[in-house]
Amino acid sequence: MPRDNPRNPGFPIPSGSELRAKGWRQEALLRLMENVLAVGEDPDNLVVYAALGKAARDKAAHDAIVRALTVMDEDQTLVIQSGKPVGLMKTSAEAPKVIMANCNIVGQWANAETFYDLERKGLVCWGGLTAGAWQYIGSQGVIQGTYEIFMRIAERRFGGTLEGRFVLTAGLGGMGGAQPLAGRMAGAAILCVEIDPERARKRREIGYLDEIAPDLDGALARIEQARAKGQALSVGLVGNAAEIYPRIAARGIVPDIVTDQTSAHDLVYGYVPVGYDLERVRRLRSQNPSELIPAGRASIAQHVRAMLHFQRAGAEVFDNGNLIRTQAQAGGVADAFDIPVFTEAYLRPLFCRAIGPFRWMALSGDPADIARIDDLVLEMFPDNRIVTNWIRLARENVPFEGLPARIAWLGHGERSALARRVNELVAAGELKGPVAFSRDHLDSAGMAHPNIMTENMRDGSDAIADWPLLDAMLLCASRADLVAIHSGGGGYAGYMTSAGVTIIADGTAAADVRLEQAIDNDTGLGVIRYADAGYPEAQDEVARKGINHLKL
Ligand code: NAD
Repeated sequence: MPRDNPRNPGFPIPSGSELRAKGWRQEALLRLMENVLAVGEDPDNLVVYAALGKAARDKAAHDAIVRALTVMDEDQTLVIQSGKPVGLMKTSAEAPKVIMANCNIVGQWANAETFYDLERKGLVCWGGLTAGAWQYIGSQGVIQGTYEIFMRIAERRFGGTLEGRFVLTAGLGGMGGAQPLAGRMAGAAILCVEIDPERARKRREIGYLDEIAPDLDGALARIEQARAKGQALSVGLVGNAAEIYPRIAARGIVPDIVTDQTSAHDLVYGYVPVGYDLERVRRLRSQNPSELIPAGRASIAQHVRAMLHFQRAGAEVFDNGNLIRTQAQAGGVADAFDIPVFTEAYLRPLFCRAIGPFRWMALSGDPADIARIDDLVLEMFPDNRIVTNWIRLARENVPFEGLPARIAWLGHGERSALARRVNELVAAGELKGPVAFSRDHLDSAGMAHPNIMTENMRDGSDAIADWPLLDAMLLCASRADLVAIHSGGGGYAGYMTSAGVTIIADGTAAADVRLEQAIDNDTGLGVIRYADAGYPEAQDEVARKGINHLKL
């Protein structure tokens, strides 16, 4: 029986043991699509997160996907082109159940204008990373990544803790909404600026924000009180970040850490320019979208100049994967790239070892299944400090949204060992139902994005998209249940290529093979990608884990 979903009424959270499809693998993928809408930002318009990241092309395509997943046999594969099902093909029980390619636009035309045009004509939809591939689990999906970034900075600059430190950021949407909780978990006093009062209210309601300040004075006073006492606190402030950041700078205040997670990548459907209220922006989106592009760029220029000011005054400033520097540079800020990107600055040594945002979802809908797997992680990896620390923190602090789920940054060999052990628990009836394993596309083998994931690669291979494409083909060959290739969308048009994967632990022997091959080959290729680029950590991982990297 699906559970009611007060957050998005009309989009119930799937649960229970009754199947609508002909097998658990198809049922699982159907539940995951339902889940991304249940936790999505604007499910009536199929939008899951990141301004325009959609679960399906349109309502008709969505309904057709539901029908196809319900009727398909285990020896068929559903083919999805930019959120629209186009074929149900005879393959084999070993083959993926769903393959999809979302918003891959031929190089010469891969720009925002062509994307918006094709999207309006109903010919493509953007899948974001995890929206179109039905792997989104709400803000939890990026909480650990954000937390790990804060902790890396804490270790490097602040003696291992953010207690007594002021973090300034913006954007409380699907992904950015994770920031207040991650900041509080790291011990900081964190101020989050958000233009849309409804988004701020949502994060307050689920407890990610401790409070919403009435104005800038009130917000800074609360931050200062918390900072002085070393108290962890998350404060929201409704306003435009491009105005608020310079106002904070003008008062001579320098936060310890500054970043931003507004949807700066999309100047039409995402970023709100200074001087525009939400109503006007919404109207312009349909009536005169081209007005928003120069206005957005000008505001982002102002926004990033304030970030550069904070950086020069000693703050730790970083781009959190929203293309804000790219937009600012196009808007005339020549030194925007003095701000580093989070992957290169903090996380690359982890990606070299394929340690990245692995996740699992309890398809039964029962939180007890996740609690059991939490215990299992602690038992299996007692010496992995990142993961044991995270699981303990997440248990206490991270509420479930939609299907109960957990994220943990596990690496090569660890991910498959956990998934196979979970598959045994499913087989033994120790869990209430099967479990889906997946990861963010922003992972070692899964993404080429020269302004986010692969910026300043050691060998200069930033722009090469072969790796995620090879990854997707390898995942199909390794029998994963869902494989996706994504690109495009608004500001991301032409900027990235990524691969996504989901594998269902349904307790069968065949699932055991799928989990081992797909997960190990995915992480193995990720380590090879970085070893090939000359990273010593990856070369060490190749040697330590016996990964079959063919060196010339
Ligand atoms: P979203 O569209 O759900 O939320 C963006 C939020 O920014 C909205 O709430 C919007 O009201 C707010 N906003 C827009 N303009 C603003 C302004 N000028 N001032 C203050 N608030 C403003 O997007 P999301 O899913 O939260 O993603 C945010 C960005 O982060 C996107 O660019 C996304 O692609 C990127 N992202 C990064 C990572 C990562 O791993 N670092 C992961 C996912 C997404």
